[in-house]
Amino acid sequence: MSNVEHLAAPSAPISGATDDADAEAEAAETATHLKVVQRLADEFRTPDLFERLAAIRARITGRIVLTSSFGLEDQAIAHALLSQKLAIDIATLDTGRLFPETYEVWAATERRYGTRIAAFAPDRAGVEALLTRQGVDGMRASVAARRECCAVRKVAPLQRVLAGGAAWITGMRADQSADRAGLSPAAFDAQWRLIKVNPLFDWTREQTVEFVHAHQVPYNKLHDRGFLSIGCAPCTRALQPGEPERAGRWWWEQEEKKECGLHIAADGRVTRAASRA
Ligand code: SF4
Repeated sequence: MSNVEHLAAPSAPISGATDDADAEAEAAETATHLKVVQRLADEFRTPDLFERLAAIRARITGRIVLTSSFGLEDQAIAHALLSQKLAIDIATLDTGRLFPETYEVWAATERRYGTRIAAFAPDRAGVEALLTRQGVDGMRASVAARRECCAVRKVAPLQRVLAGGAAWITGMRADQSADRAGLSPAAFDAQWRLIKVNPLFDWTREQTVEFVHAHQVPYNKLHDRGFLSIGCAPCTRALQPGEPERAGRWWWEQEEKKECGLHIAADGRVTRAASRA
């Protein structure tokens, strides 16, 4: 099985000759992206994160953005690109519900590297309407309510982050959960129409921890208190010994429903996983 995948089919044209031309242009664009994806997969034979980031920048033309939640993986990637001064943007989704410790590592990162992390906040009217509909912690009422909160606080801002981008770097690792087991090094994301790159796809948590300590990268102190995967405060808890790495995220939901929408295609497929066929 190839570990390179076209994640989802481009949306179908609506009608007419214009749509045919659009579909042809889309197909050509997709083919170009897939070539880049294949090259990146080849370059990712090295486990060296610095080299992987440099390869991403060298192979992709246009704006590249790392979305960071300041977890260990994002911090490792941020270090690898900032220390090389690569022209790759870093953006974070400031949902308004983050832990104080997350803001602390955000500030520490800006101090350490002398940079600013671009913050994308949710639409004020959208948040106000959300709070009116479901209350301040209404995300726990149902999966639908939680996804509605994620849609307002995360997915809508992400659209602005990725608008006009050529590539999107994430900190996902294949061994974080069963759902991520088939993670590709890179893939064409038809939903956002860009190349999605996962430079830590084959790293373990231990490798990531080792990298962060070796390079004295600022990290979220919640990691030392049993929080392995850190998202919004109302939706993240510390783990008990032996629990899976992402068990503390939306812990009241069943495993297969634990998606915030950032990595879900319009057809409901997880856009980070390679085919298991
Ligand atoms: S993780 Fe929780 S608080 Fe954050 S956007 Fe999703 S539902 Fe809302």
